[in-house]
Amino acid sequence: MQITQSKQLFSRAQQRIPGGVNSPVRAFKSVNMTPLFITRGLGSKIYDADGNEYIDYVGSWGPMILGHAHEEVVRKLEEILRNGTSFGAPTEGEILLAEMVCEAVPSVEMLRLVNSGTEASMSALRVARGYTGRDKIIKFEGCYHGCVDPLLVQAGSGAMTLGIPDSPGIPAAFVELTLQAKFNDLDSVIKLAEENFHEIAAIILEPVAGNMGMIPPVHGFLRGLRDLCDREGILLIFDEVMSGFRVDYGGAQNIFGIVPDISIFGKIIGGGLPVGAYGGRQDIMLQVAPAGSIYQAGTLSGNPLAVGAGLTTLDILKEQNPYPDLGQKTAWLSGEFKSAAESAGVPFQTQAMGGMFGFFFSENPVHNFQQALKTDTEQFNRFFRSMLKQGIYLAPSAFESLFVSTTHSEEDLERTVTAFRKALRDE
Ligand SMILES: *Cc1c(COP(=O)(O)O)cnc(C)c1O
Repeated sequence: MQITQSKQLFSRAQQRIPGGVNSPVRAFKSVNMTPLFITRGLGSKIYDADGNEYIDYVGSWGPMILGHAHEEVVRKLEEILRNGTSFGAPTEGEILLAEMVCEAVPSVEMLRLVNSGTEASMSALRVARGYTGRDKIIKFEGCYHGCVDPLLVQAGSGAMTLGIPDSPGIPAAFVELTLQAKFNDLDSVIKLAEENFHEIAAIILEPVAGNMGMIPPVHGFLRGLRDLCDREGILLIFDEVMSGFRVDYGGAQNIFGIVPDISIFGKIIGGGLPVGAYGGRQDIMLQVAPAGSIYQAGTLSGNPLAVGAGLTTLDILKEQNPYPDLGQKTAWLSGEFKSAAESAGVPFQTQAMGGMFGFFFSENPVHNFQQALKTDTEQFNRFFRSMLKQGIYLAPSAFESLFVSTTHSEEDLERTVTAFRKALRDE
């Protein structure tokens, strides 16, 4: 595999862009490699600056559930482009997108669009605090909610693989109100709630964790959180930026049948363009300006192009319901990986749900961040390099989830498993 062009571009990039990238995980630092510069994508494939082709399991970190350059999405974008790309005034598309999300996710009665998942979780926290009149929040070790100051504490993949679990530039006072609980450990949450009685505004989590590898909730965990929140007047916030429209059309909350007070979205609802959103119960959302007094705004919020890409994507997902098929693909990959690892005598754990899957090189099952940290990341890195050489593009970190799209073919999946077997032999 030649990557001369990518190497040249990367050294040029480093002159003018910190670390050569606009989001840290892209730098391939944790796997000790040069990042590939991508020139185009089509369906399940992406192509780098040297013309190499890869089967893509990153999918822009989640949004590309229909594959790259989906024809209908492209056509919609072309149509919108010609009519102007931003007005800073309301447009009908925004209503349609809000209606579609509310219909798909019944706990969301009203929705506010923003430009990224980060912005959405920042805003959701403000609303939770404004609504409850309380200041403290509980988050979980290893859950990522964007690079929001008070949430950048033990924040999983991106922050973690760089070795900066907390970042300089965040005053201690900003995280004093953030309490840390253990994912899948209800007792750790109940203890915090007791110690901070009537002080906690919200519990925020990824209902299916995807930023410390993929870790589903254990039985009863989400239900326990819901009950605790009801007892204590705490708002339950599901960050479904990754899991929304990914594990199922109605998100993780639909699969597990748990109703949060506020939900956060991003990624898929922008169809590959920059979008985030937060929404929930009407009485909560009516506190947001200009209906209410909790301020939140954005020049490009509800941008017509982003809304158009999102709407077209959700339209297709709703009409085609690809989730059973996506679920079969990820279950098959995860099953084949597991049996290949077993016959090679390599300790291996894997999970799959809808269009999302993940694995760890580990003897023991992984249910939380501490356990994820104990898995064999060196082995992952060697494995990653071997897969990449064979034309399989995985997330460059042991603590990320992987995604399949509707365009991943049987042949793509079979090639991936063949590469996986070879990667195990290369060990
Ligand atoms: C990606 C992600 C975010 C951040 O979204 P950005 O658009 O990158 O700001 C927040 N929460 C979760 C669960 C995510 O996966």
